[in-house]
Amino acid sequence: MRISITDRCNLRCRYCMPDGVKCVPMSQILTLEEYARIATCGALLGIRKIKVTGGEPLVRLGCCDLVRMLKETRGIEKVTITTNGILLEQYLGQLAAAGIDGINISLDTLDPGLYQALTGGGSLLAVLKGLEQALQLFQGKPIPVKINAVSLELKAVAEGLGCGYDGPGWPELLKLARDYPVDVRFIEMMPIGYGKQYRSLSHKEVLAKLQEQYPGLEKDGRSHGNGPAIYYRIPGFKGSIGFISAIHGKFCGGCNRIRLTSQGYLKSCLCYEDGKDLRAVLREGGTKEETDRKLLEAMKQAIWAKPMAHCFEHPEQMTENKDMMKIGG
Ligand code: SAM
Ligand code: SF4
Repeated sequence: MRISITDRCNLRCRYCMPDGVKCVPMSQILTLEEYARIATCGALLGIRKIKVTGGEPLVRLGCCDLVRMLKETRGIEKVTITTNGILLEQYLGQLAAAGIDGINISLDTLDPGLYQALTGGGSLLAVLKGLEQALQLFQGKPIPVKINAVSLELKAVAEGLGCGYDGPGWPELLKLARDYPVDVRFIEMMPIGYGKQYRSLSHKEVLAKLQEQYPGLEKDGRSHGNGPAIYYRIPGFKGSIGFISAIHGKFCGGCNRIRLTSQGYLKSCLCYEDGKDLRAVLREGGTKEETDRKLLEAMKQAIWAKPMAHCFEHPEQMTENKDMMKIGG
């Protein structure tokens, strides 16, 4: 289960929320206790892993407390976080103390100028510091740090943003897997919100170029978690290269994800708006037992209604109109 704990963010990625978000009153956002209660019910239904996301999860006060609460939930085995990394240095110690099991850092370019333009003012240096400190802190521990990059044609993006960029494009990110024990995963851009305005790189083409450049490239059969990424290894590299091809590699048959929005709406697919309003159940009153029973029932219904597959290739059939930071990416 992916839990978005805020819609707000300290960045303005052009493909996500270039103009920020329309703020909703905090009373409409779930409290930390409400997320934890949903997690407890989820655990009773067999949910074992939780990803904390957003918006930017680290801008929500109490994010690390929530990680701890989730870790203390009976039945929940792993709690990980997806962050833009800007505040990672500041919160790393608290996340580690709370028992975090993995950190995904979103990073689309290693060019400071392009990073700043693409994220609406972000500091690449801050992200890289956070990454290095996380690797140091978790060295020798089974706490993976991964890089997620949306598959963008960086030169075209830079041109569109009017910023001078003379880098090699996506291959620049390979440096991270070469120099650090981190997996670098390329994620296809999904036609959600502002993402519709960006063309995703073809993973088939990226892979063909990788094979050409690194003849020793081989499929990496080791387990990297339970996600849908397909991994490759390059001889001499410390980390692996992963591809999450949600559109062209349609892995819906093996998808067991459900997503909770910051306002407590439980969704079973990114593509459709169907789901259950758990906030309404939590707040309608009644005894704890009654509410927990209703929560379990609503969660079961949302899960059983999970569609066979997404329909991103037929955007006219999509019913989800929320932006990515609302759904939680
Ligand atoms: N702020 C955090 C971050 O950036 O990691 C967590 C939330 S963000 C919405 C989660 C992930 O979704 C990021 O890796 C971001 O690049 C990705 N994302 C945003 N819009 C997307 C889109 N249209 N298609 C694919 N990924 C997208
Ligand atoms: Fe913020 Fe993440 Fe969206 Fe970028 S992708 S604007 S960091 S929520």
